Amino acid sequence: MPIIPFSVGDRLELKKPHPCGGRLFAVLRTGSDVRIRCILCGREVAVPRLKLEKSIKKVLSEEPETK
Ligand SMILES: [Zn+2]
Repeated sequence: MPIIPFSVGDRLELKKPHPCGGRLFAVLRTGSDVRIRCILCGREVAVPRLKLEKSIKKVLSEEPETK
């Protein structure tokens, strides 16, 4: 399984939506637990990094680079 790189400030689109219906989360802090905030309702959650990586659908970088 590939390691998904993301860092503070990135936004993550998760496969499983938050109870409020939002799928986009902002990364607030990384580590063995990653703190993310639901962009739609503003609630913060901490998720173990491994578990989070499995549920990431897409990483949206804050500053997209030209590829
Ligand atoms: Zn939410």
